[in-house]
Amino acid sequence: MAKEIFAIFGNPVSHSKSPLMHNLTFQGLGVDACYTRHLLEDGDKLKETFLALGLKGANITVPHKEAAFSAADVLDPFAKKIGVVNTLVEREGKLYGYNTDAPGFLKAISEFKNVKTVLFLGAGGTAQSTSSILRDEGYEVTLVNRGEARLEKYKKEGFETYTFETFPKDTSLVKHYDLVINMTSAGLEDDNLPAPKEILSAVIPHAKACVDVIYGKETPFLKLAKSEGKPTKDGSDMLLYQGIIAFEHFTNYRYSFDEIKPFMKKAFSL
Ligand code: NDP
Repeated sequence: MAKEIFAIFGNPVSHSKSPLMHNLTFQGLGVDACYTRHLLEDGDKLKETFLALGLKGANITVPHKEAAFSAADVLDPFAKKIGVVNTLVEREGKLYGYNTDAPGFLKAISEFKNVKTVLFLGAGGTAQSTSSILRDEGYEVTLVNRGEARLEKYKKEGFETYTFETFPKDTSLVKHYDLVINMTSAGLEDDNLPAPKEILSAVIPHAKACVDVIYGKETPFLKLAKSEGKPTKDGSDMLLYQGIIAFEHFTNYRYSFDEIKPFMKKAFSL
């Protein structure tokens, strides 16, 4: 059988850890495959590029996850519901589309027990898939976002939403949230907090833990949460787990989550 080739598509894509994660795992499990990266400027060209490169599978990152949804011939039910695909697998000439970010995130927060209410700081693309899976799993998700525009769609779907301006100023009116999660890019390449200090000071003290989707650094948000004595977690496990779930799809479940994990995890210590 010819060597199977996989790739990540994105723009930018040079920073992605996915080639290292998947190649270490192919090597560790003795799979004859390799994983490369492809800078894709035009999302409309995703499918033809995938086919021209003769790929067996791909991950898709910003800004092409909606384009990947359109490129798929067959959609997994959850990916279909949210309209966002980050994993494509070729089977008998058809492209199967999945979303592994959301189940990866769900697994990453599963270590926090007795959690019912969750506050999302941010309402962008990552919040879209993760809010949906959390709701499916019975969590109550509330969103607070800087701007109003991105909240419209959540409001329509029945989520409780606030902007920084509409969030209660009177702290006695602020609900208690078991988990507070930074879903924004604030703190990624700057020292910004994801919301005004007054909002964070009202919600962090009541949280059981604080989580950030940003990985590889301690953001100002996580620093603040730690200073309040809260357990914290960054986005590394989310990244790792979405990769493991993608690998399961790539290899048609030939390997279990726990067999894949130690090899893929090595990418985080290199
Ligand atoms: P989007 O561009 O879709 O959304 C960005 C969000 O951040 C919006 O809600 C925006 O608010 C908010 N925002 C940006 N800057 C600020 C700021 N200075 N203050 C307050 N709010 C701000 O981003 P994504 O959803 O694609 O990505 C969000 C984060 O998730 C990124 O940091 C990314 O690295 C991380 N991520 C991590 C993954 C992992 O595996 N760990 C996987 C995918 C993403 P507004 O609407 O007001 O502009």
